[in-house]
Amino acid sequence: MGQVLTLLYHRINKIENDANFLAVSPEHFYEQMLWLKRNFNIVRFEDKWDRIEKNAVCITFDDGYMDNFDNALPILQQLQIPATIFISTKTINTQEEFWWDDLERNIYYGKSDRNPMFSLKDDFFSCTWKTDTFGEKENLYKTMHWLMRDKISLQKRNDWMRQLYEWNEWDEKGRKENITCQVKECLEKDLSLITIGAHTVHHPSLAALPKSIQKEEILKSKTMLEQQFKREIITFSYPFGTKHDYDEITVEICREAKFQKVAANYSGVWKTGDDTMQIPRNIVRDWDIDTYKKQIVKFWNM
Ligand SMILES: [Zn+2]
Repeated sequence: MGQVLTLLYHRINKIENDANFLAVSPEHFYEQMLWLKRNFNIVRFEDKWDRIEKNAVCITFDDGYMDNFDNALPILQQLQIPATIFISTKTINTQEEFWWDDLERNIYYGKSDRNPMFSLKDDFFSCTWKTDTFGEKENLYKTMHWLMRDKISLQKRNDWMRQLYEWNEWDEKGRKENITCQVKECLEKDLSLITIGAHTVHHPSLAALPKSIQKEEILKSKTMLEQQFKREIITFSYPFGTKHDYDEITVEICREAKFQKVAANYSGVWKTGDDTMQIPRNIVRDWDIDTYKKQIVKFWNM
């Protein structure tokens, strides 16, 4: 029986300060897809994989950046490659950025005349950071990202973001290149190669949340995408997706929600008999084609 190597992309774009190394340039993406098309059977994420005879590759994207539809989709269409896009719904159809991008924008690209210190007011984490140099900004970004990922509640995350906005005295309109899925525009495109999957509302680390909130995050994103895209949503991916970011409760909720397949984020290859609620995926960086080929071989052998 064949095995399936699932690849995890986030965005196809050229980004100046890609703080989380999530972007692959359109040029590299084209080369990568062309090479895959010539060398592998490429399957859809939601297909039944038990009876695949030849080893196959599956393409997925997390988060739902608009560049998936603007930059990746034309390449996928040209090469006739199917892909799944897992969308986190809080910012869709708005001009806002995802919280980690918004954090980056507020820290690195704030108003030049703002206070060169940021003081966070919190009942537990109050702290003041200098923000003069790139290194100091980087330190603040990394600390805030680490805390916002799974150490504080969603309410706190919103409150801290509000404090950053006040510090910069600006509004919530994000940068154009970071815009997330605009459904009306997406629906004007041919989406026959694209499967839409859910990815929660606020992109939290689910394992850190009580069951009721986990359920709300998962089900609300599913329902919203179903209404927006007018199709059934049968796949999901865990935000961040490492084994620390979801737990048995999360898996149970996904089963109850009738997701046919769920994607995780740790390296590996899926083989017949493996859990379909925790499909391993392998993150792709902005690699040139030679590095990419070596990485794919490494992924197969992990
Ligand atoms: Zn994500």
